[in-house]
Amino acid sequence: MQFYSLNGKAPSASFKDAVAKGLAPDRGLYFPVKIQKLPDSFFKSISDLSQEEIAFQAIHQFVNPEIPDEILKHIVKETLCFDFPVVNINKHLSSLELFHGPTMAFKDVGARFMSRCLGYFNQNQSKDTTVLVATSGDTGGAVAHGFLGVKGIKVVILYPKGKVSEVQEQQLTTLGQNITALEVDGVFDDCQDMVKQAFLDQTITDHIQITSANSINVARWLPQMFYFFFAYQQLYKKHNNIAFSVPSGNFGNICAGFMAQQLGLPIHHLIAANNRNKVVTDYLKTQRYEPQQTIPTYSNAMDVGNPSNFIRIQEIFKNQFHELKTQLSSYSFSDKDTLKAIDELYHNYHYTVDPHGAIGYLAAKTYQKNNPSTHTVFLETAHPTKFLDVVKKVIKDKIELPEQIKEVMNKDKKMTSISSYKQLKTILLS
Ligand SMILES: *Cc1c(COP(=O)(O)O)cnc(C)c1O
Repeated sequence: MQFYSLNGKAPSASFKDAVAKGLAPDRGLYFPVKIQKLPDSFFKSISDLSQEEIAFQAIHQFVNPEIPDEILKHIVKETLCFDFPVVNINKHLSSLELFHGPTMAFKDVGARFMSRCLGYFNQNQSKDTTVLVATSGDTGGAVAHGFLGVKGIKVVILYPKGKVSEVQEQQLTTLGQNITALEVDGVFDDCQDMVKQAFLDQTITDHIQITSANSINVARWLPQMFYFFFAYQQLYKKHNNIAFSVPSGNFGNICAGFMAQQLGLPIHHLIAANNRNKVVTDYLKTQRYEPQQTIPTYSNAMDVGNPSNFIRIQEIFKNQFHELKTQLSSYSFSDKDTLKAIDELYHNYHYTVDPHGAIGYLAAKTYQKNNPSTHTVFLETAHPTKFLDVVKKVIKDKIELPEQIKEVMNKDKKMTSISSYKQLKTILLS
């Protein structure tokens, strides 16, 4: 598949080049030139297919022919090494748990898929590739874990000092090997700006091969389609109109939901669940898209003031605002609402949710109120113990830590503090 730049000033690129570059040379995000619907027979037989088969079919057209089918099957198999259960909350609502992977957030799927694609493309290359990534928390751990020990790849992670949870910091600073963690004096948007600047800096791009592992990278973004299919497979016999509520930050995840819909998956509606960083909630109200300063919240993976993937959603809807509004709703909630939702789910439904899933739940409930004939699935994007300091404000009972988290908590952290782009540059070129 070829991918074109959404800025329209760069040549189109193969999947391989799009993965290697991350962003197009004109700074645009890559988008597939064509999206072919999956055949009816696929949806008719979906209950008989394994998750690996579903994922293979969903992603095939985008990576073909650069990754041979047998290799792709293997990559998909390694990517999906954990479960994606749908947990029923009540008659109208379910939770899709995406946190059963190694770093206990949905980003494990994209990171594992991307690392294996890049590993495959890089196997005969003499020069190392540096994966440069800004994280508001979960990307860092998922990418570090996904790329750990992959030959020919170095990973450099930037995270905002004091603004990621303790577990998140442990996950991205304790691996060593080919992983370097940089603690930035600033907020997530500062990290993202430094990464963007590095990609624009010719003294860097002339010397090293760099790519990004944020959801702007097509190999990180597209595999996130998989779990919308998996949820549908588990629910379609019981429910007619299935909507998804997606806790959103950079809007990669929800945009993957729209891609699944483009492939023919009968998604009734998508709901962007926002915290107080609500550019898109406001946009759907006013039709004015106004990037904002990031506001720190309890759901810090969604603290994004200018979501990079929203432009891809605009492209899917050919920039038709009113079309988009028929398929997308968005609601915003405060930290106080978040705590109330954690409490409500725990006490009414015996369900422990993390602060991101809590906002997904609130948005699902709000949408459901006006659309009672739908069944709404909120994505539980991280395990609650990744955000224990917040969850503990509400839930006083002891919460058992999962193995993946216990393991990482005792390890020693290693990071370098930086406060300027110049320092990043020195590190990249050293
Ligand atoms: C990254 C992340 C999000 C936001 O996903 P986007 O694809 O950036 O919209 C939501 N919840 C958690 C737990 C995350 O790690």
